[in-house]
Amino acid sequence: MKDSVQQLYNGLLTCKKAVFFGGAGVSTESGIPDFRSESGIYRTVQEYGVPPEEILSHTFFVKHPDIFYQYYRNYMLHPSAVPNAAHRGLAFLERQGVLTAVITQNIDGLHQRAGSRKVLELHGSIHRNYCMDCHQSFGLDIILRGDPLPRCTRCGGLIKPDVVLYEEALDETVLSQSISQIQEADLMIVGGTSLNVYPAAGLLRYFHGDVGLVLINRDETPLDGRADLVIHHKIGEVFQRLLDFYPSSQSTT
Ligand code: NAD
Ligand code: ZN
Repeated sequence: MKDSVQQLYNGLLTCKKAVFFGGAGVSTESGIPDFRSESGIYRTVQEYGVPPEEILSHTFFVKHPDIFYQYYRNYMLHPSAVPNAAHRGLAFLERQGVLTAVITQNIDGLHQRAGSRKVLELHGSIHRNYCMDCHQSFGLDIILRGDPLPRCTRCGGLIKPDVVLYEEALDETVLSQSISQIQEADLMIVGGTSLNVYPAAGLLRYFHGDVGLVLINRDETPLDGRADLVIHHKIGEVFQRLLDFYPSSQSTT
């Protein structure tokens, strides 16, 4: 791994603008399981007898909000999770002026907690919730309260998390900003994503930078062949090693 991390470091020294695109694997070292890998919730959670893709769909939310919220609270919310070295490393690279954006499929808010400022959340955030009737906004607290169905304190309407469920479209603004960031970058780091979820995974085709495409993922992905550098390793450990190359990171991480 040492040589690969050295190569990544060299790329970061050479490039003008790097962008990061990540998924659930970025947060597994913070204790939040991903969806599709061996230990992901798609394989480990069988108790509902319905595929998770169905429970996490718009139709299911509308028809059975009580079951949706049971599943969502049990498996999607990890309020005590804290950022790991990957989140901290990305925030550090942004402060250095080399990384212009973190584009994430995650909904956990850990990039912001680690100090990243430009975070494009393609699938929304568990920290934003709104009333489906009067559109009043709420934080995560109201979801964590434990009422079977979170209700608006103003009008009693059902509260929905601002996360993109299956059958729902991505936010156009977030998507177009992500595409611009990728088009302007000369180095793209992709990490902790199986690259199976479209349209998010299709974002890679907008990257034409000449410094290169770096893929950091524990398991193989269908797009490994497209990358200039592939690192099959835990992303937190990769970033921990990367930060060792930057003496100035030691005081801040
Ligand atoms: P995925 O579950 O499809 O794939 C995760 C990938 O990360 C796997 O290929 C796995 O090999 C890799 N991985 C796991 N741990 C890793 C580590 N420590 N280092 C490097 N690689 C690691 O996830 P996805 O492609 O991101 O898509 C799942 C969808 O589920 C996303 O759209 C996201 O919205 C949602 N999700 C979010 C969270 C979160 O917010 N933390 C958690 C689970 C799922
Ligand atoms: Zn309301």
